[in-house]
Amino acid sequence: MTRRHLTIVVLLLLCSLLNRGSDAAENNKPDLALDATTKEQGEFFVATVNGSSSRPDLWFNGQSFAMFWQNDSSYRALVPVENMLKPGSYALLAKSNGWKEKIPVEVTSNNLPVQKIWLDEKTNSLKATKEEKAQVKAALRTVSESKLWSDLFSYPSQGRKSSPFGVKRSYNGAPVSSYHKGIDIAVPQGTPVLSPAKGKIVLTGYEAERFHVHGNTVIIDHGQGLTSIYMHLHSISVNEGDIVSKGDTIGTVGSTGISTGAHLHWGVYLYGTSVDPELFVKNQY
Ligand SMILES: [Zn+2]
Repeated sequence: MTRRHLTIVVLLLLCSLLNRGSDAAENNKPDLALDATTKEQGEFFVATVNGSSSRPDLWFNGQSFAMFWQNDSSYRALVPVENMLKPGSYALLAKSNGWKEKIPVEVTSNNLPVQKIWLDEKTNSLKATKEEKAQVKAALRTVSESKLWSDLFSYPSQGRKSSPFGVKRSYNGAPVSSYHKGIDIAVPQGTPVLSPAKGKIVLTGYEAERFHVHGNTVIIDHGQGLTSIYMHLHSISVNEGDIVSKGDTIGTVGSTGISTGAHLHWGVYLYGTSVDPELFVKNQY
């Protein structure tokens, strides 16, 4: 083969490679992927979309979830499976610019026992005040663009877990009406409560200011739909708007609000829906 022939062969090869490259680019549709297609009540799906030039829309069980741009050039959302959601078949659906993809998923029961709680008439009739209900709900639904947390969450206080997440509750023999939206950690009054991850303080609520049920309360926004709550505190040492790092003290354990003894109630929420906090201690998201 002459040098000229060789040049032509190389050029032809290059052309075919380049062509293949551009064909691939044209066929390069976005792609929806999930970390798993079966989740238990109280867990969440990690939904990722690669190859989308704009922010995709994402739906699960009739609700839409904002997706957020990640460092690895994908869009992602942590989609909560509500603890009371009926087990069965569902789907996650993503859409952007004429593309859509649906992935069927299964939700299974977490088989947690029903806890029967008997309260005296006075305690049973105690309801959260309008103020605390509205403020807590709004703060837990905070969805902000930047991801402030990184690596694993740490426990906000080290101690015996006195009540797990997700246990369904029946009060005074009535049907199951709610569930435990966090974990309780039994530690003495005055024990420091540490932020488990970086975040921004979005709510400080005080028993003296009508937080009759939650007691002294702190809510942290960790970004991208992830928030956390600390209830029944003895004292609060942060202000709304403060940025806290992992390990920073936000207050001390107490027994304010409706509480039968000193303990920390710690809850973690995605888009306002409570999920098992320990998932963030055990896995990095
Ligand atoms: Zn609790």
